[in-house]
Amino acid sequence: MSTNDSNNSAYNDFHLQFIAGEWQKGKDDSTNTNTNPYNGDTLVEIQQATKDQLNEAYDAATQAQEAWAKQTPATRAAVLYKVVNILDQRQEEIVDWLIKESGSTRIKAMVEFGATRAITLEAATFPNRVHGEIRPSNTPGKENFIYREPIGVVAVISPWNFPLHLTQRSIAPALALGNAVVLKPASDTPVTGGLLLAKVFEEAGLPKGLLNVVVGSGSEIGDAIVEHKAPSLVSFTGSTSVGKHIGELANGGEYIKQVALELGGNSPFVVLKDADIEQAVKAAAFGKFLHQGQICIAINRVIVEDEIYDDFVERFLAHVKTLNVGDPNKQDTAVGPIINEKQVKSLKEKIAKAQEEGAKMILSGEIEGQVVPPHIFTEVTREMDLSRNEVFGPLVGIIRAKDEDDALSIANDSMYGLSSAVFTADMQKGLRFARGIRAGMTHINDISVNDESNTPFGGEKNSGIGRFNGEWVLEEFTRTHWISMQNEPREYPF
Ligand code: NAD
Repeated sequence: MSTNDSNNSAYNDFHLQFIAGEWQKGKDDSTNTNTNPYNGDTLVEIQQATKDQLNEAYDAATQAQEAWAKQTPATRAAVLYKVVNILDQRQEEIVDWLIKESGSTRIKAMVEFGATRAITLEAATFPNRVHGEIRPSNTPGKENFIYREPIGVVAVISPWNFPLHLTQRSIAPALALGNAVVLKPASDTPVTGGLLLAKVFEEAGLPKGLLNVVVGSGSEIGDAIVEHKAPSLVSFTGSTSVGKHIGELANGGEYIKQVALELGGNSPFVVLKDADIEQAVKAAAFGKFLHQGQICIAINRVIVEDEIYDDFVERFLAHVKTLNVGDPNKQDTAVGPIINEKQVKSLKEKIAKAQEEGAKMILSGEIEGQVVPPHIFTEVTREMDLSRNEVFGPLVGIIRAKDEDDALSIANDSMYGLSSAVFTADMQKGLRFARGIRAGMTHINDISVNDESNTPFGGEKNSGIGRFNGEWVLEEFTRTHWISMQNEPREYPF
């Protein structure tokens, strides 16, 4: 192990890949040009990796994993605690990268930093928390032992929206539990989604080969990372369409693998007539516009009971008009840039479609570069595109519900089931309503955007398979092995 305590100068050389514990140049002909989504500045040009380099990463991971799994829990935990220390020391540098690479506002970057730190700290407890079981047997003289072992090599594919946190949410538990990782970050965020974390783990003394970051094009390494023989688990966080493809690849090829799929969402935010409207308005604005709405658990549909609909709309409009839009680096900016031009184009299409379908646009604004100001639509119905599909941007439709039952029926009318929220003054009613929602997560009198390192995060229906955080990820990133011991000769029928 090599540590680098005294070297606190900013990390550099992000044009290199991290394979087998070495920083090496990509060997593919193509280049990833990493740009700042707010001002278009080029941050780094990365020559991409080839399939051979991916194979090299998998070989290194396979080899390193065996020795790592045999390390004591204390040794593995110590690396994770060291990572937490380094994150703290380098907080400013990391937040700066989140702002310039992913277009995070300062507020969002701090939220993401906090979540990343929390899951790392939680993961540091995993080496000592993982445990087996002894179960009684119906066979005389037999004892049943259930072991939890590392799963082996884990392929991690992560998205660009919360790149640091959503990558760390997979790699920290995976490593803590004795696995090795080959990671492909999203093309828009190769640094915060991978290379930066590789620097941190390297500085923390993680043995070579256990974490590999391969930056490559989808066509060269996209399918290969999933189909390769080495990984026993593919941990994918991203869109439902790509997730379905990953699921098919992981189980339709030569080698069957486990998959953890954290996919798209369409979170309902329901305001019942007895709710504290002012609080619901503030929550709706934050839960919708944080990171420009580019969050899988962002509010996608605001559903308001008829009696308070007009009042809610009026106050929400007034509040959203006060939000600062523009430079993400400014302390008080609420809405920064969209990640890339393709996403801006998709949002422009959604604005046009909402109007064509008859929604009333009560707030809009000029789109400058990749900055899209908040757009609010009223008289939105459950059938409209804004309600049916994930928006992933600062546009919001407000749906009128006849009553509580209608609100619940609208909330459940989606092929997604990730997060959700309900506002009411009556906690019993809130609990009843929450339990009626078919989703992985529901928050009463709060936003749908919540993630705690010790509570299960994940979705149902087209939002995915599996759960992150706490005990749930302990199961996800280990394998179960039943071993029985026959202590006396057993009698067989023949
Ligand atoms: P995406 O599906 O386009 O990309 C996700 C990752 O998959 C990226 O690293 C991308 O390079 C990679 N990828 C794309 N095609 C691939 C292929 N054929 N083979 C292998 N890898 C491939 O998603 P995105 O645009 O980065 O992220 C936004 C989406 O992610 C939204 O739908 C959002 O809801 C979802 N998301 C879900 C969660 C969750 O926890 N459920 C969290 C964040 C984002």
